[in-house]
Amino acid sequence: MKWLARQRIRYALRHYRISRKVWAEVMRSTRVFKGLSAVERAHLREMTTLFLHRKTLTGVKGFNVSVEVSITIAAQACLPILKLGLDYYDGWSEVVIYPGAFRVARNTIDAAGVVSNQEQILSGESWSRGPVILSWSDISSEQDISRRGHNVVIHEFAHKLDMLNGRANGMPPLHTDMIRQQWTRSFSHAYEHLKQQLAHHHRPSINSYGASNEAEFFAVASGYFFTYPQALCRLSSPVYEQLKLFYRQDPANRL
Ligand SMILES: [Zn+2]
Repeated sequence: MKWLARQRIRYALRHYRISRKVWAEVMRSTRVFKGLSAVERAHLREMTTLFLHRKTLTGVKGFNVSVEVSITIAAQACLPILKLGLDYYDGWSEVVIYPGAFRVARNTIDAAGVVSNQEQILSGESWSRGPVILSWSDISSEQDISRRGHNVVIHEFAHKLDMLNGRANGMPPLHTDMIRQQWTRSFSHAYEHLKQQLAHHHRPSINSYGASNEAEFFAVASGYFFTYPQALCRLSSPVYEQLKLFYRQDPANRL
């Protein structure tokens, strides 16, 4: 079976190769890939090819998923798992792309048990065992300096990693060489610290959305880890260290 799987990978890499020109343009124009070595870029290109072979990228509301768009999204999605492997994205198959932010209606239940229907405007969403939903306008504005630290693709795929071991709770399955208590201590301390910054009207070190709950904190911290690690280290270098162990990458060093 392993032999067959390897043959399939070889076939996909040979027949669905990404054009050199488009790949170079995506690497050049997207800030998050800065500092990757030639070997890492080659590995990322292979993973991106396989990702596009295994997943379906569907545009909705008239959005056309061009080759450039699909490679831009797939390459960013593969960056967090560059040292982990594509198997981390097993169990689901679709990425849905809206041209811009999209509305969703949610039923919420308050403490008294009253159900109300609320409308939310989102730039991305991840379903457990279901699709990842993204807004292209939010992906393409990633280069905007005022949005430093924010990366909607990495954010939503971090939720996917978090959901590998059940519902999203801010703790993905840790590697055997990691210590659960260290993770919990680092993350709960940093999460409380962010909430304190907001409570005291201090400028938060990372996006205040991270204070929504533990799952959002992990996804926001992951976005900063890959795009603006200095800000994450200012909030909490222990969280940076834990993410470095989890993703097996050191963006602060390469950026
Ligand atoms: Zn989120």
